[in-house]
Amino acid sequence: MTSLSAVPAYAAPAPKAPLERTTIARRAVGAHDILIDVKFAGICHSDIHQAREGWGEAIFPMVPGHEIAGVVSEVGSDVTAYAVGDRVGVGCFVDSCRECEYCLRGQEQFCANGSVATYNGRDKNGDPTYGGYSTALVVDEHYAVRIPEGLSLDVAAPLLCAGITTYSPLRHWNVGPGKKVAVLGLGGLGHMAVKLAHALGAEVTVLSQSLRKKDDGLRLGADHYYATSDPATFEELASSFDVILSTVSVPLPIDSYLKLLKVEGAFVNVGAPEEPVSVNMFSLISGRKTLAGSPIGGIAETQEMLDFCAEHGLGAEIEVISADQINEAYERVVASDVRYRFVIDTATI
Ligand code: NAP
Ligand code: ZN
Ligand code: ZN
Repeated sequence: MTSLSAVPAYAAPAPKAPLERTTIARRAVGAHDILIDVKFAGICHSDIHQAREGWGEAIFPMVPGHEIAGVVSEVGSDVTAYAVGDRVGVGCFVDSCRECEYCLRGQEQFCANGSVATYNGRDKNGDPTYGGYSTALVVDEHYAVRIPEGLSLDVAAPLLCAGITTYSPLRHWNVGPGKKVAVLGLGGLGHMAVKLAHALGAEVTVLSQSLRKKDDGLRLGADHYYATSDPATFEELASSFDVILSTVSVPLPIDSYLKLLKVEGAFVNVGAPEEPVSVNMFSLISGRKTLAGSPIGGIAETQEMLDFCAEHGLGAEIEVISADQINEAYERVVASDVRYRFVIDTATI
């Protein structure tokens, strides 16, 4: 089976350094592996946190990218799920122990022995993993998902992280008909949360820093749109929501948002700020409220999310860029100037 020694990629050579073109090696295609010709890779804010070591020490050089969409170009001898030519995606992890209680129930994101991150991780041999800002990827077939017909690869790529990271908690907290959900932050994750919550039948409110993106938010499926920079928002929306899904990448004054929950409501955090937040426990006690977090999702639920998106015609709103625009795109994401996901055309690497 082929091993690839000079795969074109974009990497951050050191923390906070601009990304630049390089080449990487990919392992030989093993019996259970598929080789993917990567077509598109989304830029998640998590790529930026990690490339800048905002979450702590990271592995360099780093090839980020965990929103990967491509086409199978080779299969190992024991592969059963995929054939050459199939359209597939890879998300935030590429392996896990496969025997702990979480792996056995298809929640590999919680693997008790640690799932292997798609990049900035180490595989079972201790070798660093490299992500989707590259033209080819080798992965065990179990850690790939099928991209349904009807979803083009470019708008599907962001679903592999932004889609599943919002779909999973919306389902877990039973967001659907009769429920009022607020989506905090209208970026990559936020815009998918709006589309998904609307498709699930909930009444959706966007809470954004300003009204700058209001038209977009309503078009994406929101019923209401408020600016968090306006103090009146917090008076008007007191005790309004069953669930608030926060996608914000920086620390927030959580107590102000907990006031917007109904009794027994949940503030669910998928945003992953680099600094801790503080919470007054009385903000939770008085209305028996929940402050929660949620990471990505398992392989089976990722497939379910993709099928749901195909059924409802939901792809990401994207701006396709060439690889030499990655550093500029990072700056625009940090400045909340993304509508609503940058996706790299890997043919330009
Ligand atoms: P993004 O596209 O940058 O969206 C984040 C949004 O947060 C922005 O669009 C902005 O929305 C809002 N925001 C940014 N700065 C803010 C500020 N100073 N005050 C208030 N709001 C602000 O990022 P993303 O890719 O969606 O990721 C969002 C966060 O989720 C990141 O921290 C990322 O690492 C994390 N994440 C977590 C998981 C997980 O498994 N839990 C998975 C993927 C990503 P408005 O302009 O509308 O206010
Ligand atoms: Zn991500
Ligand atoms: Zn496990």
